[in-house]
Amino acid sequence: MSKCPYCGHEGGFKTLKTWMFGFYNVERIECPNCRGIFNHYNGTTPRGKAVEFTIKVKPGSPKTSGKQH
Ligand SMILES: [Zn+2]
Repeated sequence: MSKCPYCGHEGGFKTLKTWMFGFYNVERIECPNCRGIFNHYNGTTPRGKAVEFTIKVKPGSPKTSGKQH
């Protein structure tokens, strides 16, 4: 598993959902530290090369003044 691209936190991630994208396994992950959301791609190309990367989806909500509906 990778690091959170927002805060660098490792571990304890919550997988919100998983799906396939081409030969990639994609996981949508929520960071337990900053609540940021990112996609983790993991797969093997048709040429046999392992590829792993993350794409930022939504930064964690900054702590606002408690106004939340
Ligand atoms: Zn984070």
